[in-house]
Order: sequence, then structure tokens, then C-alpha cells
Amino acid sequence: MSQLPVDQLRALIGDAQRIVIFTGAGISTESGIPDFRSPGGIWTRYKPIMFNDFMASRESRRETWRRKIETDKTMTVAKPNRGHQAVAALVNRGLCTAVITQNIDGLHQASGVPAEQVIELHGNSTYAKCLDCGTRMEIPPILAAFARDETMPECPSCGSEYVKTATISFGQSMPEAEMRRAEIATNNCDLMIAIGSSLQVYPAAGFPILAKRVGAKLAILNREPTELDQYADLVVNDEIGPTLGAAVGLN
Ligand code: NAD
Ligand code: ZN
Repeated sequence: MSQLPVDQLRALIGDAQRIVIFTGAGISTESGIPDFRSPGGIWTRYKPIMFNDFMASRESRRETWRRKIETDKTMTVAKPNRGHQAVAALVNRGLCTAVITQNIDGLHQASGVPAEQVIELHGNSTYAKCLDCGTRMEIPPILAAFARDETMPECPSCGSEYVKTATISFGQSMPEAEMRRAEIATNNCDLMIAIGSSLQVYPAAGFPILAKRVGAKLAILNREPTELDQYADLVVNDEIGPTLGAAVGLN
């Protein structure tokens, strides 16, 4: 009798000792944060602001803070869902060595994955940074001033006007330390599970390919086909929370 996909996923997890989880925006939609590419997703409303435009135009920088006010309405109240909890259970059972995420919402840490086991490839939107000197700035005072009369933030250390959320924009270079950590984790895994990512954004989507190249198994869990399905040992097209919850045996 052929096994259901969720049972096949449970079996792959049961055979693995060094799982690496790779997540995209899809794992957070059940927490109320829209992804980019689904109907109703962020891209049906906004075109992404490229890093070069952010640097070249004060109006683009202004637009990023307008959007930040909008996206924070959902992001700051979002709580981890069953998908995040299932990932945290694998980590806390000692079966998963690292969670490589494209997400910027901090929900893996909020669900109980130790921060040192979360690798944020695209940064984090819960604080801001000066692009000239690296000074960290907190978001609430920036948004409060901006909401009043669109006052733009300035770096308190060097006076730069290039203050940006600590996320990686399209066209911005990837964070070196995180890329290196993700590579090491991937090189040492025996199973990668890619969850809720359309697997179209590079270099992030290179990690599932690297996992296959180094001999690990690759499972993909997503409600629709992805770009990398042809490389996977198992593709499960279903909803993330219920499927992963069942596959790891969450109560
Ligand atoms: P994406 O929007 O390209 O892909 C998300 C995928 O998840 C889609 O294929 C969709 O069908 C699937 N999906 C959505 N909800 C699902 C569910 N409940 N069950 C099963 N499948 C589901 O997102 P991506 O691959 O992460 O790439 C887009 C970029 O967007 C990333 O770089 C990320 O930085 C950024 N982003 C992050 C957040 C966040 O932090 N939560 C939100 C939006 C965008
Ligand atoms: Zn500065």
C-alpha cells in the first residue's frame, strides 16, 4: 500500500539525525503575515524597492517607512503557529541543527528555537541599522516620528540619512556570516526540509540544491509546486501547520 505524503515525511524525519529546516514566507501565513507571491500577497499590492533605489532616492527611503508602518500592523502582533512549533519541537528534541530562514519576522525565535540556531539570510525587520556606521536603532521611535510628519530617521552616531530596517533588500549583498553558517549547516545535514518557499529567490534557494549535492535527502513542503521540485526526494503539496504538526507528532 502506498504511503500518504505526510507519512513519507514522518518516515524521512524518523531516519534523519541532522535535519536542517529551510523556511520561507509560507510558514508565517498561518500567523497572519502575508507572503510575497500568493494571491493577496505583498507583491499584489507593492512592487519591491530595490537597494539601489533606496540609496539613490530620498523618496524611495520615505516609501520604505510608509510601508513599514503598514506591514508592522500585522508583523508586530503575529504569534508563532503550529508550523513554527513543529520546527521548534524538532530542534528541541536534538534532531534539527539549524533553521535557515528567509523570513524577517522573528517567529522561529518566538516559538522557542534558540537564536543561535536560527540563520536569518534576509535579516530582521524588528530593528534598524545605519548603513554607514552600523549603529543599531530601535523601530518604535523611528515610526513614531515618521507617523507624525514623515520625519526621516538620522543616525545618532554619524548623522547619516541612510538608516534602513536590518533586512536584506533585493539587490543588496547577502550577510557574509549568515551565508557561511548556512553553508556549514547544509554541508553537515542528512535531511533538508524546505517549507513555505517558492524557492525562486537566490542565493537563498541555493541551499536546498547544495543539500542534495552533498548527499542529504531533500523534502519540500508547500501548498503549490516550487522551482526545485524536480530535485526533491519527497514533495508534499499541503498546508504547513497541520502537515508538519502531524509529521513530527505534535500534540
Ligand atoms: P514566496 O511568497 O515566494 O513563497 C511562499 C510560498 O509559500 C508560496 O509558494 C505559497 O504557495 C506557499 N504558502 C503560503 N502559505 C502556505 C501555507 N499555509 N501552507 C503551504 N504553503 C504555503 O516567499 P519566499 O520564498 O519566502 O520568498 C520571498 C521573500 O519574501 C523572502 O526573501 C522573504 O525575505 C520575504 N518575506 C518574508 C516574510 C516574513 O518574514 N514572514 C513575509 C513576506 C515576504
Ligand atoms: Zn551611522
